[in-house]
This record gives sequence, structure tokens and C-alpha cells, in this order.
Amino acid sequence: SSAEQGYSRSKGAHLLGGLLRDDLNGYTSCHSRMQQQLYRKASPFIPSRYLISRLRRYEDLHIKCASEAIYFVKALKSPELMADLLQKTDCRFIVWIAWSGLGNRLMTLVGTFLYALLTDRVLLVDRGTDMSDLFCEPFPHASWLLPAEFPQSWLQGLDESSPHRFGYLIDKGECSAHVNLSSVPAYSYIHLTHTFDMQDRRFFCDDEQKVMNQISWLFIRSNMYFVPSLYFVPSLSQEMERLFPEREAVFHHLARYLFHPSNEVWGRIVRFYHAYLGNADSLVGIQIRTFDPTKMPSENVTSQVFACAIGNRLLPNVSNVNDDEMTWSEEAAGTQKPISVLVTSLHQEHYERLREFYLSHSIEHGRIVRLHLPSHEEEQKTGKAEHDKQALTEIFLLSLSDTLVTSAMSTFGYAAQGLAGVRPWVLTKPGEKAYQQYACIKALSLEPCFHSPPLFDCDCEGGRDPGKIIKFVRHCEDVHWGLKLF
Ligand code: GDP
Repeated sequence: SSAEQGYSRSKGAHLLGGLLRDDLNGYTSCHSRMQQQLYRKASPFIPSRYLISRLRRYEDLHIKCASEAIYFVKALKSPELMADLLQKTDCRFIVWIAWSGLGNRLMTLVGTFLYALLTDRVLLVDRGTDMSDLFCEPFPHASWLLPAEFPQSWLQGLDESSPHRFGYLIDKGECSAHVNLSSVPAYSYIHLTHTFDMQDRRFFCDDEQKVMNQISWLFIRSNMYFVPSLYFVPSLSQEMERLFPEREAVFHHLARYLFHPSNEVWGRIVRFYHAYLGNADSLVGIQIRTFDPTKMPSENVTSQVFACAIGNRLLPNVSNVNDDEMTWSEEAAGTQKPISVLVTSLHQEHYERLREFYLSHSIEHGRIVRLHLPSHEEEQKTGKAEHDKQALTEIFLLSLSDTLVTSAMSTFGYAAQGLAGVRPWVLTKPGEKAYQQYACIKALSLEPCFHSPPLFDCDCEGGRDPGKIIKFVRHCEDVHWGLKLF
């Protein structure tokens, strides 16, 4: 197949410029790891040598420490066992709790892994209902999954109301942490969801990070791409500058390093690609996510998509030649490669309208446009394995696009653009000023947006807009109070 020829032609390309370890022992069983590059253009971003060396160091740490995680389950039975356990080892962990939609999960996994990398912790992943059905193991010779013996009910109890919440270590009314370092707990829960409070938000400050460093086991629940606010912490920020001289590519590199769809999901991706998308002049991905369908009737959504895609020449316009006047040039019809358009949406209606538009008009320059919708699940069913596999299939298919149109505020779209390495055209939101002027705006960078960043107040001088005082972050094109790296 062309894929196989491509593989032998670009030997080593699957290592993603050194991001992946050239140690295939036990790795080759994951097809997506070996084949992804055949379906993508080479990345425009080059991972730094420092990032590569830190990833190798991380992998060694993971191999050394992951097998110790099981002892924590036993130590939960008594404080004495816990104290004893912590004495015996210098391994430190951060456990990612599976929560929220798939796009959100990809955001928080990247953020949590980056934090682990920066602070020499080992990342362990709560299996949730289906994490192991979705992804291959990213690290060599040791699993990233939390041991199955971890009690799920205990893990689920780590939420807003948990007494182990890190924010509780900080006195209300005090500006920064006054924690006696001799009494730091063995483990703590970091609450970084959109409901985090003033105390939880101090996670992004230097003093609190010093306390964090003393805690061996951290558990994190989040639904946000919190990476931009890690730049509030000077020690982390310096390290991130070394790791990512191209800041726009933080998610891009780490997502390509971590996320390899399982063979079952990869099979779906490849089959869909060859059946419907491949062998085309170009692939245009259109991700339609309507958070409040009552405010967004399908006619408006699809006319906005057309205004964006045709107005910016991502798709050809229709011509005003009617079908009686059409002369079919066999030559043109036979030789022009089609433009493939992948539409993803929970709803079929948008796709039907887009397709109908092209079928009922002749198209400029005799172009052929083929549109496909891989599924229409109608509603979000996060946690159901088949549904999540389909969602991952579509995020990856979108990430093979040459150009992308995405929906504002959607982490599903952020994941696709980040994996693709393509700056998307982001559809503007009805009700916002930009919507009156533009159908879509080209994203400033391909980084995802942190939707609810805290104000900057680490120096206790009152909350200030981080977009104005932290280098490297800007407000997002789709969420004005949000922050993104650029
Ligand atoms: P966000 O809510 O747009 O930020 O994205 P998430 O991925 O976190 O959550 C939305 C969830 O709804 C996804 O994970 C899917 O389960 C489902 N979903 C949303 N849009 C699509 C789509 O275009 N295709 C499929 N298959 N599922 C979708």
C-alpha cells in the first residue's frame, strides 16, 4: 500500500523528530504509533533537544517508580503505613482523574503530564470507564494506568467537597500559603475545574508550588487547559522556556508524544480515511459544535460556515451557471482530484445542508467537493466506550486536515488543531461583537485556550489581568477573558 511505501521511504519519521524513543521493544504492537506520520504532513515545529532529553529522563523515572504505586493503596489503610511508605521512597506522583468530555480530557492530560515533567513526578492515569480502550500506552516498558486495585469510590470522592483539597491548606483571608512544612500531608487533591476558588487558584503561585513539592501524592481533577497559567510560576516558566522555545507548540508536541489511538480506534480512522477522504486534492476539516442549539438554528450555522470557508477560499464557491447551461467537460471531471471535506458534529442537519448546497449548484472551476460526516451521535455520552471511541476517531480524522474550521470554545476542536499543527479558522459566536463583522477569525496560535484563568495575584498586590503582565500569554480569539500561549 502507499502507506507502507511511505513508511519505508520516511524511515524514522514515526519518531516525530525524536519525540518518541527509538526503542521499539514492545512498542510496535501499537499501530498508530508507527503509522500516524504516513497520514500527516511533517510538523512545522521542531521539538527542542532539551524537551527530547527531558522526555527520556521522564521515561526512566516512570519505569523506576510506576510499580510502586500499588503500595499507596495498602498505605491508605492507616497513617502509620502511609508514613512508612513515604520514608521508603523518593518517588512522587500525580494522578489524573478521568473527568469531562474527551476534548477536555486531552487538554488536562497534556497539562498534567507537563506539570509532572516540570516537577519530576510520575503521571498515573485513572482508567475511568474506557481510557485503556482508547489509547496505547505512551511510555515504554511501564504502564501509565493507575493500578486497577485503586479503589474507584475513593478516587471519585476526590472532588470539590473533599477534605483533602489543596486549597484548604491555605487560610481563607490570607494571601499566600502559611503551611508548616513539617506538617504537609502525604497526599492532596488539586481542584482545577471551572468551580475552583481563590485558594485553589493559588496552585499557580511560587510559594504554593514549594508546598506542593513536599507532597508525595497529588491527585488532580480538571476540565481546563491550565498550561498558560503555569507561566505565573517563575521556576516553572524558566523551565518551560527551555523546553518549548516555540511556545505555540506546547500542546502540539506533548499531544503527539502522548496520544496514540488504540489499534481498534486506529483501524476505524484508517478505514474511514481511505474510504472517504484520501486521494484528494486537499482535506478541509469542519468541526461544528453548537453549545446552545436554540440560539443557533442550523440555517445560520451553515451559512456562517460557508461565509467562513468560501470567503477565506478554503472551499470553492458555487457558480451562477445553471444546469441547462452546464457543459460537462469529461476532461475536467475525470482529471481533477476532489476536495474532501470532513464534517464532524453531533447533529446530522448541518451536514445535510452543506452537502445539499454543493449538490444543488454548479461549482466554480468545475471543482468536485465531497463531504462526509462520520457519525451523528445526537448527544454527548461521555464514558460510554463506543461513543468515546467514535469521538476520538473524529478528533484524529480532523487532525489529518490541511485546513480547519472549528467552533469557538470547543476543546474537541482545540485537540484536533493541536494534533494537526494547523491554525484553525474559528467560527465567531452569535451575540458577540465579532460575529457582526466576521464569520470566523484565524487563530493567533494553535495552542488551546484556558477558559477560566485566575487573575494574577501571586505577589498579593491585588488581582490583575495576566494577559497584560505575563509574557507569552494573550487573550483568546474565542473567549475574551481566556488565556493562550502564542
Ligand atoms: P467540548 O465540550 O466541545 O469542549 O468538547 P469535549 O470533547 O470535551 O466534549 C464534548 C463531547 O461530546 C465529546 O467528547 C464527544 O463525546 C461529543 N461530541 C461533541 N462533538 C462531537 C462530534 O463532532 N463528533 C462526535 N463523535 N462526538 C462529539
